Amino acid sequence: MSYFIFDLDQTLANLHSIYYFLISLRLKQHFNEYQIPISYQDQYDLEDLEPFLNNAYDLFVKRILNEELSPYHPLGVIRPGILSIMKHIHHLKNKGTIKHVLIYSNNSSLYCLQFVKDIIEEYVKSHRFLSELVHWYHPMRKEEISSSPNYIGKDWNTLRNILIETPSIQAPDSLSPSEVYFFDDMNHKELSDKLKKQYYKVTPYLYKASFEKLTMIYKSVLYDTQIDILKLFRLLLYIFPNDIMMDFNKSTINNIVNVFEKNTENSAGYNERPPLQKLDYGITLIKRGLKDVEKKNVKMGRLGDNKKQKKHHSTYKKRRISRKK
Ligand SMILES: [Mg+2]
Repeated sequence: MSYFIFDLDQTLANLHSIYYFLISLRLKQHFNEYQIPISYQDQYDLEDLEPFLNNAYDLFVKRILNEELSPYHPLGVIRPGILSIMKHIHHLKNKGTIKHVLIYSNNSSLYCLQFVKDIIEEYVKSHRFLSELVHWYHPMRKEEISSSPNYIGKDWNTLRNILIETPSIQAPDSLSPSEVYFFDDMNHKELSDKLKKQYYKVTPYLYKASFEKLTMIYKSVLYDTQIDILKLFRLLLYIFPNDIMMDFNKSTINNIVNVFEKNTENSAGYNERPPLQKLDYGITLIKRGLKDVEKKNVKMGRLGDNKKQKKHHSTYKKRRISRKK
């Protein structure tokens, strides 16, 4: 039984250019996650806006996925090649070769993990494809993080406990590192020592998707879901408190996007393309992991077949013997 674990940032995706768009559509989650206190009136507006923002978020996920699937100009928020790899993994999961797939990330915003999960699950058409999202503040990492606040590692014990104790996973107590495949652009030494060759340190995915392209998608989504821009604008003031661009006389989508842009450096140009997957060594490594788990499965299958073959063989022998008689 195999478990596939993926890091998020610079492994599956690069969220640099999309970050503020995402916050603005997941405002409630953001305020909750970072415990940002907001006024009574704004709380009221947020509740009012929430169903519209949820619709906008769902549409945003669909339109981003659509752009990612463009054969000539994929957006590149999701690392090119990852979606087809996930489809392959989904197939292996249905066959039982892979038991569970997780994201284990040091990103502190759960909605960032959720966004990548939503894109992937929209693509593979299964809403239970990823079993668990482990972000920085995951309840089972409390001990790991509070015992060493400056420690940014990921370790075997934490991962093992999560796999065993998460109700939707329930790995057996006998779980061994040989059943875990791990993909990360960073080298978490303790985990890497335990998992050995099944720790795949992939090359970091550094492409920062075109801000201009994202703006077009974002604007179309706000427009189509009839978001109250003034309300959204007022709530965004909590995230950009010192930004002079946030002028109430200019509460337009353009003004909102300008503030995002000011806080997002060096994104790709409109006509730039993300690196091709066939030239991406990180993708090659992930595919290698998949080949390895398939090979292992074939071997296990053969062991089972051998028993059957032996049986067949002996009946064949008997028949031959009986014929000789
Ligand atoms: Mg990373």
